[in-house]
Amino acid sequence: MNESPQHEETCTVCGNEATGGRRFSRIYQGGRPFALCCPMCVDLFQRAPARFAGGERPQRVIEDLIADLKWKTPVRWE
Ligand SMILES: [Zn+2]
Repeated sequence: MNESPQHEETCTVCGNEATGGRRFSRIYQGGRPFALCCPMCVDLFQRAPARFAGGERPQRVIEDLIADLKWKTPVRWE
């Protein structure tokens, strides 16, 4: 695919600007790069990479993931 260094990127998960120094990480999924702005977005992306990469609305994927986490993750920091 075409990948120019000047290409403006937004965070795949939250949609924030993720260009140049503002980009925290980039994950390849299915051979395509996905920019991510912070560790939290990386974490979310890695929980459902196929869904984020598949063109689903990130907001919806995030809602599902958070709902899932609420049920499955024991809350230890209370
Ligand atoms: Zn983000």
